Amino acid sequence: APQIGVLALQGAVAEHVRALAASGAEVRTVHRPAELEGLDGLVVPGGESTTMARLAAPVRLMEAVRERHDAGMAVFGTCAGLILLAESVADAEALEGFERIRGLDVRVRRNGYGSQLDSFTEDLAVAGLPGEEHPLSAVFIRAPLIEELGEGVEVLAASEVAGTQGTDGERSPVAVRQGRLLGASFHPELTEDTRLHQLFVEMAGGA
Ligand code: GLN
Repeated sequence: APQIGVLALQGAVAEHVRALAASGAEVRTVHRPAELEGLDGLVVPGGESTTMARLAAPVRLMEAVRERHDAGMAVFGTCAGLILLAESVADAEALEGFERIRGLDVRVRRNGYGSQLDSFTEDLAVAGLPGEEHPLSAVFIRAPLIEELGEGVEVLAASEVAGTQGTDGERSPVAVRQGRLLGASFHPELTEDTRLHQLFVEMAGGA
């Protein structure tokens, strides 16, 4: 079975472990660079990107994840994890001076769906999932807005909800893939539907 780690500095760790195990992966939590050894994939959970970046700094964990990804490890960032995976972050003062993983060619805006929409749920059609005709129920909690996409980035799902800036009246991308990187601005680990985790386990396993 593919070996998948869950970055366990802070955030929704246990829920991802459960969803990955249910998707056929062998799962372990990751706190230090040495624990990345031998992993086919890593999930970077939702939570608070600034807290995770701060906790990772003393052991240079963000740099270690980037190096392992360059060597072939797949990475799935959800919500705060997507922020850590993004090449570029708008309004990033709170993250300044802290390393992120980077690599996913998008620009995200933290809390980019605005305060009145701090939390919402939306049924999404996600390309490439089995049972595509059955929408995925997606939970957004102070979610980052993907406001710019590089050419190599494939949009798997978009939201009816426009962001506070930049995507006026347009659907906003909320699940994206670029090579062995997967990003979601919502929390797929908070529902019983494990199809996105299954997709990631397949990606990490070489599919
Ligand atoms: N707003 C959070 C951040 O900037 C992300 C929220 C989440 O992961 N649910 O890190």
